[in-house]
Amino acid sequence: MKWQGRRQSSNVEDRRGQGSSGQGFGGFSPTLLAPLVKILFSKVGLFLVGGFLVVSLIMGKNPLTIISQLLSGGGVPTESSAPYKASPEDEELADFSATILANTEDVWNQLMSNYREPTLVLFTGSVSSACGSASSAMGPFYCPGDEKVYIDLSFFDDMERRLNAPGDFAQAYVIAHEVGHHIQKITGISEKVQRLRGQVSEKEYNEYSVKLELQADFLAGVWAHHSQAMTRIMETGDLEEALNAANAIGDDRLQKQSSGRVVPDSFTHGTSAQRMRWFKKGFDTGDVSQGDTFSASSL
Ligand SMILES: [Zn+2]
Repeated sequence: MKWQGRRQSSNVEDRRGQGSSGQGFGGFSPTLLAPLVKILFSKVGLFLVGGFLVVSLIMGKNPLTIISQLLSGGGVPTESSAPYKASPEDEELADFSATILANTEDVWNQLMSNYREPTLVLFTGSVSSACGSASSAMGPFYCPGDEKVYIDLSFFDDMERRLNAPGDFAQAYVIAHEVGHHIQKITGISEKVQRLRGQVSEKEYNEYSVKLELQADFLAGVWAHHSQAMTRIMETGDLEEALNAANAIGDDRLQKQSSGRVVPDSFTHGTSAQRMRWFKKGFDTGDVSQGDTFSASSL
């Protein structure tokens, strides 16, 4: 891909280095709670609470974070988490992701008059979202509750090494797929499917989620089509990279890798062939109206 030197999105939240501590309140010790509660309920406490609220408002920080840092003897620090040192490779991946996100903004703003730009959250280890907390082992995901795409950039390493799906366009496809879920939030289709949960059998619900996933692949293809027309960002071999990735991360392939056999009923993303087919259809047509995976006679 010819991605370098292009616009990077400002809708990126860098939370790398803040995850996987496993402690609430940023390392807040429970043994400090009792004396703190006593102080809070005294007159001095009320004064302190007011003071902390003012300080936290000025600093834009959670007052509990400031209190815990004061109690741990660190004074009022300027950073709320341990410094995170990204490798040059990670920095390049972060720049790349922000560039691809910007590219999806340009395409979808043109294709949809009511497009709202989602936020991309970069994290390491674990992260909390409006959809609950998640570890990077789950892979990248989109949370409709806060309209954010979450990704631990180490997933791209995994794709290359474990899933044998290397290449920057394969990575762009992953981001575009998650943005596809965001478009499904805007069109209301994901909510419709969500509402069926518990009302239809688990097997039937699974079929609906597969259709949702394949539509996200289709939308990633539509993005690639228009991105190429608008910005000529793709190079020879890029399409194959995305198709190879769609092939590698199909549920049948993933399940074979993890358990050695394929169990079609528990598919939630679609088979490798289905994922490739829908991405390709979006890429070939560039026509959003052709992505109705729900009424398609065959997937
Ligand atoms: Zn998905």
